[in-house]
Amino acid sequence: MNKLEMLYEGKAKRVYKTDVKGRYWIEYKDDATAFNGEKKGQILDKGIVNNKMSALLFQMLELESIPTHFEGLLSDREQVVKAVEILPLEVIVRNVAAGSLAKRLGLEEGVIMKETVLEFCYKNDELGDPMINDYHIAAMGYATKDQVETIKNYALKINTLLQKFFIERDLKLIDFKLEFGTYDGKVILADEISPDTCRLWDANTDKKMDKDRFRRDLGDVESVYQEVLDRVQK
Ligand code: UDP
Repeated sequence: MNKLEMLYEGKAKRVYKTDVKGRYWIEYKDDATAFNGEKKGQILDKGIVNNKMSALLFQMLELESIPTHFEGLLSDREQVVKAVEILPLEVIVRNVAAGSLAKRLGLEEGVIMKETVLEFCYKNDELGDPMINDYHIAAMGYATKDQVETIKNYALKINTLLQKFFIERDLKLIDFKLEFGTYDGKVILADEISPDTCRLWDANTDKKMDKDRFRRDLGDVESVYQEVLDRVQK
């Protein structure tokens, strides 16, 4: 497979066309942004951590009957994926209050949700990814009702699988963000699952082991990303 022209450069990845139909070539960068791009920086070798971790988790999910875009690793920072059309939704799953939910509802971070919370945001940087509900999604045609049902079922199943996977590695899954796309008319999991898109706390100490170390200038950013990859690869 050969890498052709770049299609798109996002905040953390570059997407290239390939000479194979239905396949894209993804390159993970070390660039980090937070607060809708207001804070910018680099996390050394984050691209390697996120590429490898996402690959491993997507393979685990595939084995559990979740269809994903992952096809194979190309190098430390690169992977081949199915060329999906991304649905303009960010799907957020929460087990414990943190971040914007804690702020919005006036909760202390760490309060356990009595039920898993699912949120949808409209993926639009200019608008700051506003939260939306099923009615907005249907009214605006961001996804069909059937697609939304499928996404909810996948998101909840992924949460159960990831919680189990992470707790076996002494990590609590606080919350995370998913993106889905369509391929061959079906909804499949796309984008990445990494410390950039999940909140993970050490199961014994509650130490933050994710991008909050960068967002909140907590230090040890690089070493924590490496530590998460080490635990995930166990
Ligand atoms: N998240 C993400 N990308 C976004 C927004 C959120 O990956 O554009 C992830 C974030 O890392 C966290 C979860 O989704 O694991 C919930 O994020 P929250 O709504 O609390 O927003 P934040 O506090 O990150 O602004």
